[in-house]
Amino acid sequence: MKQPQSPQASQNPRDYVIATMGSHSALQILKGARDEGMRTLVICQKGMERPYQSYGVADAMLLVDDWKKGWNAALERELMERNAIVIPHGSFVAYLGHNRVARMKAMYYGTKEILEWESDRRKERKWLEQSRLLLPRVFKRPEDIDRRVIVKFHGAGGGFGYFVVKSKEQFEEVKRKKYPKEKDFVIQEYIVGVPLYIHYFHSPITGELEIMSFDKRYESNADSIGRIRAEDQLAANIHTSYTIVGNMPVVVRESLLPEMFEMGERVVKISQKLCGPKTASGKRKGLFGPFCLETIITRKLQIYVFEISARIVAGTNPYINGSPYTDLKYDVPMSTGRRIAREIKQAIGEGRLEEVLG
Ligand code: AMP
Ligand code: AMP
Repeated sequence: MKQPQSPQASQNPRDYVIATMGSHSALQILKGARDEGMRTLVICQKGMERPYQSYGVADAMLLVDDWKKGWNAALERELMERNAIVIPHGSFVAYLGHNRVARMKAMYYGTKEILEWESDRRKERKWLEQSRLLLPRVFKRPEDIDRRVIVKFHGAGGGFGYFVVKSKEQFEEVKRKKYPKEKDFVIQEYIVGVPLYIHYFHSPITGELEIMSFDKRYESNADSIGRIRAEDQLAANIHTSYTIVGNMPVVVRESLLPEMFEMGERVVKISQKLCGPKTASGKRKGLFGPFCLETIITRKLQIYVFEISARIVAGTNPYINGSPYTDLKYDVPMSTGRRIAREIKQAIGEGRLEEVLG
């Protein structure tokens, strides 16, 4: 097949390939692209290719020895020759880091700069505060702890090793035992409520914000500690951790939806003031495509946001065949992965691909 010279050269979606890294939500992204009639490519770390072979969702596969060294100039050249559009996801960002992503030359779906805003706690907070969201209080110094707090050490990857304390003394005891040298941590008010992850999609092509679905996480050991009575937990000296193992679908109380739409809209609007290149409208590109507000909802139905993910989250994976919400809106099973491909396809067809690339 003749390859176009630049992203804008072809308005035929078949001249492009939807590519992603094999982990996290790759199966969904690839299946969604296939359902939209696009060609697909998966980049796998050796030894991790089995699911992509077994489920057959990729037209082509590239193997690398390991992510950090494997995602190099040669791989990028290959991606560019294939006219690949790379879709980022959680593992992509975790393994490459936002600096490496910023230097990427291959076509990339989304605003690259947004990753810096989601991964820098201070920037993230500024963004969420300006969006007028309810946030857990942050305590600058252990001396200020006056209620239940969750302490997140930077080194505590994936929620492993977070701990909950309610005084400076308790904080110092756990810190001394578990993280004697670590200086990078955040002390956040612990919100009692249920965790709920809201999956959004904002399209600069249609101008619309959609709520795609919701999930709750299945975390080890937080989700099993309740199976042991409190006395035994104390006796066994069990500490809570939040290592992600999987995700479960949730449908929310319908009267919460109006507020959730507005929260998502405000986050998008503020992002257009904060980051990305300026567009013809004078606004910045900001946040678009899939994103997620990670919330805890209290018994008084206050929605606290403790984090934002500015790309597809794996909590959308239960909905490869569409969610109850996308079922209301679309006449085909619409996963978030498929929604991404549809967006790209429409942008290509209208000669607007540049608007969805970072
Ligand atoms: P992995 O490729 O599974 O090692 O995941 C890389 C990163 O993505 C991890 O640090 C996780 O925090 C995040 N992640 C992976 N899978 C999920 C999931 N099912 N739900 C939420 N986060 C996830
Ligand atoms: P994270 O690694 O930030 O996604 O957080 C892992 C888990 O910690 C979440 O799924 C929540 O259950 C819990 N968590 C994080 N922050 C808070 C908070 N401020 N209050 C209560 N629980 C929290």
